[in-house]
Amino acid sequence: ITRLISTVGKTSQWNTVLPAELAGVDEDVFHKLRGDSEALQGRASKDYGNIAREVPLAVFHPASAQDIARLLKASYREAVPFKVAARGQGHSTRGQAMARGGVVVDMAGFRERGSGVGIRVSNTVDPSVGYFHYADVGGEQLWIDVLHATLEHGLAPLSWTDYLYLTVGGTLSNAGISGQTFRFGPQISTVREMDVITGKGESVTCSSQTNSELFHAVLGGLGQFGIITRARIALAPAPKRVKWVRLLYNEFSAFTKDQEQLISITGRKQNIAVDYVEGSLLMHQGPINNWRSSFFPLADHGRIISLVTQHSVLYCLEIAKYYDGQSENNVDKELQVLLQELSYIPGFYYEKDVSYVEFLNRVRSGELKLQSQGLWDVPHPWLNLFIPKSQIMDFDSGVFKNIILKRNITTGPVLVYPMNRNKWDNRMSASIPDEDIFYTVGFLHSSGFDNWKDYDTQNKEIVQFCNDAGINIKQYLPHYRTQEDWTKHFGPKWRTFVERKQQFDPRMILSPGQRIFNN
Ligand code: FAD
Repeated sequence: ITRLISTVGKTSQWNTVLPAELAGVDEDVFHKLRGDSEALQGRASKDYGNIAREVPLAVFHPASAQDIARLLKASYREAVPFKVAARGQGHSTRGQAMARGGVVVDMAGFRERGSGVGIRVSNTVDPSVGYFHYADVGGEQLWIDVLHATLEHGLAPLSWTDYLYLTVGGTLSNAGISGQTFRFGPQISTVREMDVITGKGESVTCSSQTNSELFHAVLGGLGQFGIITRARIALAPAPKRVKWVRLLYNEFSAFTKDQEQLISITGRKQNIAVDYVEGSLLMHQGPINNWRSSFFPLADHGRIISLVTQHSVLYCLEIAKYYDGQSENNVDKELQVLLQELSYIPGFYYEKDVSYVEFLNRVRSGELKLQSQGLWDVPHPWLNLFIPKSQIMDFDSGVFKNIILKRNITTGPVLVYPMNRNKWDNRMSASIPDEDIFYTVGFLHSSGFDNWKDYDTQNKEIVQFCNDAGINIKQYLPHYRTQEDWTKHFGPKWRTFVERKQQFDPRMILSPGQRIFNN
């Protein structure tokens, strides 16, 4: 059985045929489904990774959150439910937002039409939280827009990702990490309340007090329990300017020791604490400035490159300290105190003074440059890992100094920075190593269409090495192929994860592209 939208008449704008699997949806939903090849072969079947490709049955263009609820309810009621995936920006790399044989909900179009809750900043005090201000934000909204809207009130969220053209729903489904995470936790730690539509099509408002099981399930829940249509994000007064510093190291132990010291500054030393700590590798096969940001002055490229050649790999510590724009002298003094205690290579200190927006939006200029060269839409065989602190030295010798340098193919940024476990909420679905401090390592490869498999092979070798060496890695933005791997990934949380799936999406409708319950 097929239904011709054009023959249903009324308001449909798409002259298209929909398959039998969707025959049971009501008229309201039906008119917002698009099944023509332009829609199916377009962004709904692609992502940033440019490796996976899954063509859905239809793309859904909701005009309201209720429409999304209707769609999910329709699937839930079917004898054979159809899969549904919310697609934010599709900045996943392995098809996590795709829905083969199902329906992709076009959250980008939802945002562009202004159909969701938008971004509403509240200046009132929320007595139930530790922060005074918050914003109610649609799950389809981009973090860059959240930044601009909140800054109009002199406020901003506390925790970010490196790149801001990602949706709120997409990053909250993973965790949302960056150099601020050690201090404020991942983005999921800054959420106070959400509106979620479950796999049964029920609209539920949840927080850590009300419907808390759903709240904790959804945060870091890989889209498995519901579609986020609103998130209440904590805000704080926004700084105006940022001292942004990069320091070079030739020894991994000195680099990580300094990173760990920087993320442990608390209490009476709080005033000299930094607001952001990251780090990356500089290798001879890659340019020293890359799409994540150009930083080093041209005049210094020669001496940095000769240092990289001498050591094969350098480690670049990156810190940022916010200030209000008036107190430049103070911030400089505080930085000096801090830097005295660090053991970077003397003379390899680089500093920038930028606006807060320029700092947070630092990846955008690199993106636009790559886009203009047609190099943004290439395959991205990324691998992101969490590694316990106690095993990071083994990781350095086995992976950075062995696999990476020997294979000699890594061209994209490789990020390395530590986080504090106590800033994460263990009731949430996100799975992290069981140590007070753990590292994230991100291999952010860009490849050609003909050689992405070489990077994939390297990624597999890294994972295999860690398994053989007993390094307890967990993937971030995970991509596993077997139920056994997922069970291992969630460890003691797996049972709860499965129970929550039974409770909130018992017919296994949501986010099939994660391949957790439908390998
Ligand atoms: P999508 O890829 O569209 O979706 C991801 C998953 O979330 C899918 O399973 C989807 O079904 C589900 N989903 C989407 N919207 C919703 C919703 N409203 N409710 C419920 N589920 C939903 N991550 C970091 O943590 N830190 C970084 O610094 C960082 N930098 C990045 C830089 C670049 C250039 C790129 C491409 C990615 C980066 N990421 C980073 C990864 C990014 O956070 C994830 O890929 C995230 O999923 C992207 O959001 P999205 O809106 O594109 O989600």
